[in-house]
Amino acid sequence: PSVASRIPLFIVMRALGLESDKQIVEAITWDPEIEVELLPSLEAASDVQTVEDALDYIGGKIIFGQPRQRRIERAELVLDKYFLPHLGTRPEDRIKKAYFLGQMAEKLLELVLGRRKPDDKDHYANKRLRLAGDLLASLFRVIFKRFCQDLQYQLEKIWDTGRAVYIENIVRADLITERLRHALATGNWTGGKVGVSQLLDRTNYLSTLSHLRRVVSPLSRSQPHFEARDLHATQWGRICPNESPEGPNCGLVKNLALMARITVGVDETEIESKLYEIGVVPIQKARKEEREKPEHERRRRPKVFLNGRLIGVHDDPHFLVNYIREERRKGRINPEVNVAYIETEYIKEIYINCDGGRIVRPLIVVKDGKPLVASEHVEKLRRGEWTWNDFIERGLIEYLDPMEEENAYIAINPEDLTPEHTHLEIMPTTILGVCAAIIPYAEHNQSPRNSYEAAMAKQALGFPCANMLLRMDSRGHFLHYPQRPLAQTKLLDLIGYNDRPAGQNMVVAVLTLTGYNIEDALVFSKSAVDRGLARSTFFRTYEAEERKYPGGEEDRIERPSPNVRGYRAGEVYRHLGEDGIVEVEARVRGGDVLIGRTSPPRFMGEYREFEVPGRVRRETSLDMRHGESGIVDAVLITETGEGNRLVKVRVRDLRVPELGDKFASRHGQKGVIGLLLPHEDLPFTEEGIVPDLIINPHAFPSRMTMGQLLESMAGKVAALKGEYVDSTTFYGTNERQLREELKKLGFQPSGCEVMYDGVTGEMYKVPIFIGIVYYQKLHHMVADKMHARARGPVQILTRQPTEGRAREGGLRFGEMERDCLVAHGAAALLKDRLLEESDRTTVYICENCGLVAYYDAISDKYKCPLCEEKAKVAQVTMSYAFKLLLQELMSLGIYPKLKVG
Ligand SMILES: [Zn+2]
Repeated sequence: PSVASRIPLFIVMRALGLESDKQIVEAITWDPEIEVELLPSLEAASDVQTVEDALDYIGGKIIFGQPRQRRIERAELVLDKYFLPHLGTRPEDRIKKAYFLGQMAEKLLELVLGRRKPDDKDHYANKRLRLAGDLLASLFRVIFKRFCQDLQYQLEKIWDTGRAVYIENIVRADLITERLRHALATGNWTGGKVGVSQLLDRTNYLSTLSHLRRVVSPLSRSQPHFEARDLHATQWGRICPNESPEGPNCGLVKNLALMARITVGVDETEIESKLYEIGVVPIQKARKEEREKPEHERRRRPKVFLNGRLIGVHDDPHFLVNYIREERRKGRINPEVNVAYIETEYIKEIYINCDGGRIVRPLIVVKDGKPLVASEHVEKLRRGEWTWNDFIERGLIEYLDPMEEENAYIAINPEDLTPEHTHLEIMPTTILGVCAAIIPYAEHNQSPRNSYEAAMAKQALGFPCANMLLRMDSRGHFLHYPQRPLAQTKLLDLIGYNDRPAGQNMVVAVLTLTGYNIEDALVFSKSAVDRGLARSTFFRTYEAEERKYPGGEEDRIERPSPNVRGYRAGEVYRHLGEDGIVEVEARVRGGDVLIGRTSPPRFMGEYREFEVPGRVRRETSLDMRHGESGIVDAVLITETGEGNRLVKVRVRDLRVPELGDKFASRHGQKGVIGLLLPHEDLPFTEEGIVPDLIINPHAFPSRMTMGQLLESMAGKVAALKGEYVDSTTFYGTNERQLREELKKLGFQPSGCEVMYDGVTGEMYKVPIFIGIVYYQKLHHMVADKMHARARGPVQILTRQPTEGRAREGGLRFGEMERDCLVAHGAAALLKDRLLEESDRTTVYICENCGLVAYYDAISDKYKCPLCEEKAKVAQVTMSYAFKLLLQELMSLGIYPKLKVG
């Protein structure tokens, strides 16, 4: 770093304090074959022979034309502070750095000689996750450095003036706080990272959990990065295989699996000294010993790496590795320490890792083909005598990082165990993340369907928190009657979904019926909806602050009086109370003022020309969003950190399911309501059961969501028996058992039933598949999207109608629609849409020179900027955007000439 050009390896090594060629070669290798490969490098640096010269050489590359002493000092500084700083920043650490560099060189040469394969950068042993603490630390480091620089600058400035130094005056007390706050508020971190801090997703409890376990790759989303997006074998049990967004971020944004944990890091020095005690020969000593032996007696002794740094050798790798593992299981070494021994024809390396950021996962330790965790242990856990930590402390379960997992032989099921196995999976279902964990029978679904569901589970309305009456979230949804799914998975309890569910069990029949469920639409029972099915409430909080301005002026929350500038029709203020705030339980709609507020004029001289003398206040009231309506739910009056009065108003809106609202089962089967059919028109079974929802049979063959069919049967069994059915992925009650249960309950084992047409009362010719499926109401609702406009606001710049629902915009008449009219020759309609109903303006054009002319009110004449009063001016109707184009061309120095007539 800070050196622009390349520096020969041997010079860097020498500058790091290795005087002789022999020492340098020792730091790299003891292998004669590799030594030979080093010869060219050695020659390249042959003219620099002492440490001083090497430093001088490097210094010369950094700063030119300085005296030798300065150059050496500078080179030392760079080597200490910026070169491999994770190994230390003191002069004593240079030897460590030399050996690290030597190891890099040896590894590279081994690759060239074909003794080693290139590292797999997608292997999780080569990846580290950064957590909040880590990120905050690096942010603080940068801010603190800048703070010190600022302090130094201030000190120097004061010193120059010769005044006394008062530390209180020069330290900017809020600088660090402010910078930290800014980074957290914007998500812009040091090193150009963006989106580090995000607004926590509170759609439902699951989306919050999932958001907190998200893993974001720094790779750019615009490049393909196929390998990085693919599932890697080492993601097993660490990263959810299903939960990842579709589109540009696919495979780059991931989610932790249920049991995965991230290491926080253990002090490395402690581990290092322990290793030396166990018999690791420090690398410098080891290399010297080998060197003294004749070439043919040299052996390749197993290298020991601690956190990627070569620290020494050990003659009995199996002993060392087993010793560390045993000590860890006995609790004498931190459970975060992982060790792996990699042996190939040429390579014998022991890797010991104790750094933070590795994803580790727990596994049951197996000895002689028997798992250490026995049923009595589980019994103790069940009785509450033991906790998870007891299993870790006793070495029954241990956390493995991806590197150590390379040494492990893991059985998935206890019955597969053989004496060779080292570990046993605790529960294979936990390879899933929180969102995929709620899917019943996920193993029966086509994989993409599970990914869709993992994405949709985050949009389901539910019960995000229990203190909603006290909260003032900027917006939120609540489902009125959330239910636990009848088809349970074991993981629902573990993640707390059963306490905060996000959906309802619905009686679902599979048939086309009216045909209003084509293309994934759903036919809902209107009566079920009237009884409260899938009913929810939407909350939005509005807030206004009384800001203070310089000069003693301040905002006032009050009913604006009619002489305030910008006063609107009295109608919109009708709900305001005496204090200028809406009354609770008032029914409000878009445009109504919720908090009345007036502010001082922006500039002292503002409006003076036109208005009566005296200071006029502006109206800056806060009004309800366009297109929304609701009932004022709560008003909160408080103070901001600066002591300004702050008013928050929460508005609630009841959402009864209506045509177009979106629903989804837990199998990626989404759809919108196509028809609300009254109870009496719906089909019924022999027992009089009427479905809540009717899904089209075409939803199944191509999607292959067998899980939903099984869930339907499981739900039916559960409802009939009055107990939950376990549908955990890989473990759930299987199809055969479900069929038997149904049979025992007196139903068709297939899940089908004879049904009757609700309108005619005739029996259907085929039995209909009917059961209970857990459906989620997603937060895409028609009430939030429905939009139309006749007249409304226009953009100031182009005078065209605004865009988007939030701005009360028009519906876009795009280029494809335009082409359509052109093709039909519908010229009048085209003109009407694109000109008359858009940005039509009248512009005066000078017939003489073709420039835009203007009307001079003083002399009551049309004038041209070139021809002045002689101009013959014509009125031309054109698009305002075109007028803008003419003027922009003029600003570029181009003369756009319009020929009139
Ligand atoms: Zn002219």
